[in-house]
Amino acid sequence: MMHRIVFLGPPGAGKGTQAARIARDLGVPHLSTGDLLRAAVAARTPLGLEAEGHMSAGRLVPDDLVLRILHERLEQPDARVGYLLDGFPRNLAQAEALGKFSEVDGVVSLDIAPDRLVRRLSERRVCPKCQSVYNLSTKPPATAGMCDLDGTPLVHRPDDRPEAIATRLKVYAEQTAPLLDYYGKRHLLRSVDASGTPDEVAARVRQVLT
Ligand code: ADP
Repeated sequence: MMHRIVFLGPPGAGKGTQAARIARDLGVPHLSTGDLLRAAVAARTPLGLEAEGHMSAGRLVPDDLVLRILHERLEQPDARVGYLLDGFPRNLAQAEALGKFSEVDGVVSLDIAPDRLVRRLSERRVCPKCQSVYNLSTKPPATAGMCDLDGTPLVHRPDDRPEAIATRLKVYAEQTAPLLDYYGKRHLLRSVDASGTPDEVAARVRQVLT
């Protein structure tokens, strides 16, 4: 059974949605560096203040900050059983840093045609409190603009606006996509077709993980 898993995929592929489900199945914590960074931004910590400008522009946050926040999280007791990493590593330097402090059992790549991504991202709305994800056309909230679970007003992430989306896709192609090769060569990569409903994709992910 695999317990140390990395999810790779371009922004908008559905990594966060799938990672949350699969982590629950496996009984390991879902560690999203994007969520950890957004929490630091919301709490106005020094690290969060430094990360904020990079994030809202769609650029990567400097490696040393991301590694610091991830290390801290991995030291918590629940991560002893394993973890599912979502949004990390995002470049070769991060993959090498990860390799130095932990083995990885499997890497799931969520594959999707690039022309789908822009639409998914620009229609995405999220709950800042519980991180639930909605989509204005495929999964609208029951009451417009409010989270179904806790009634919190939904937000349009600053990096889900058009200029930042273009930057994120470029950063993915240039810096993160090379990791497919990196993990492929190490025989860890399992590719999954990420088109279709979240249930369909989750079934495919479960299949490659068993
Ligand atoms: P998405 O996968 O939809 O782009 P995330 O929530 O994973 O969204 O990340 C949002 C932003 O947080 C990124 O665009 C980047 O600025 C920052 N970030 C998250 N993870 C990392 C990382 N591993 N390295 C550098 N920056 C990161």
